Amino acid sequence: DPRPVLIAGGAGYIGSHVALALADAGRPVVILDDLSTGRQALVPEGAVFVRGDMGDRALVRRLLAEHGCSGVMMFAGSIIVSESFREPLPYWRNNAGSGLAFVETCVEAGIRHFVYSSTAAVYGTPDTLPISESAALRPISPYGRSKLAVEWALSDICETAPTRFAALRYFNVAGADHRGRSGQVSPVATHLIKIAVEAALGRREGMAIYGDDYPTADGTCIRDYIHVTDLAEAHVLALAHLERGGESLIANCGYGHGFSVREVIDVVRRVSGRDFPVHSSERRRGDPPALVADSGLLKAKLGWVARRDDLELMVRSALEWEAKQQP
Ligand code: UDP
Repeated sequence: DPRPVLIAGGAGYIGSHVALALADAGRPVVILDDLSTGRQALVPEGAVFVRGDMGDRALVRRLLAEHGCSGVMMFAGSIIVSESFREPLPYWRNNAGSGLAFVETCVEAGIRHFVYSSTAAVYGTPDTLPISESAALRPISPYGRSKLAVEWALSDICETAPTRFAALRYFNVAGADHRGRSGQVSPVATHLIKIAVEAALGRREGMAIYGDDYPTADGTCIRDYIHVTDLAEAHVLALAHLERGGESLIANCGYGHGFSVREVIDVVRRVSGRDFPVHSSERRRGDPPALVADSGLLKAKLGWVARRDDLELMVRSALEWEAKQQP
């Protein structure tokens, strides 16, 4: 399909990597981003960029019509689990309220293909690992609930509308574009690898481990870290699947094995060659002990291949990206 894709949140961390992947493949992209955490500098060369809110129906309607978009992707949203407990309303407003407005505007405009950023947070604390898409959906944070709300809305709405959707449930996304064009930019760093990389670069005193008494081998939480470029490829494949006439789908995105917080910190120390102080602190609210994806569906339905299943590579690219940013 030569028609453009509208990417809400395309100037953020994951959205910009997907925009780059589409643009690299020659697909025109239109990026809508309010720049609350994203950066215009991450927008691919030659892409249309518009600063605005995905919940702005008139703006979205105009962009879809003006550019003749055939598909959309929705990355925009608020993503910090701990913050969502302190300030649930913005999570419901941005993720659910604006998200639903965006879905509605796109469906009304006749958009047939909708790719949605979902999350492993929809599962809460799983009964068994790895987690398959059919596992119980029991989100334990306002963040997870606000993301699941729109996933459910999409699947209900797509039952009767001609729109089909792909909801990709991300596990822990890490790393940066190998050509150095994008990486983590959010000014409010909460992600483990970003924090550890900042500590390694001497940009923070050290770091905390949020809980070392979990029922895991070393007592710290286990997460399945997926390289952002592999995740971007999953989006390109998901869109191609919908454009071939494939049915709506919901798929986990991860590698199927995890690392503990301590293991990640050790890799950051080793790859950077720098030591930094680490102390144990309280558990963080909303953190399940272990999250590992069963990504069999992504492989089977989309032909996705885990090409960068390498924590050192993720850490190295994150370090290189972070070192280039103004402290
Ligand atoms: N974590 C930590 N110290 C930090 C940041 C994160 O111990 O400074 C832990 C966090 O408690 C969780 C894991 O690292 O167990 C991954 O957290 P992150 O915020 O990167 O992603 P999330 O799993 O919340 O999406």
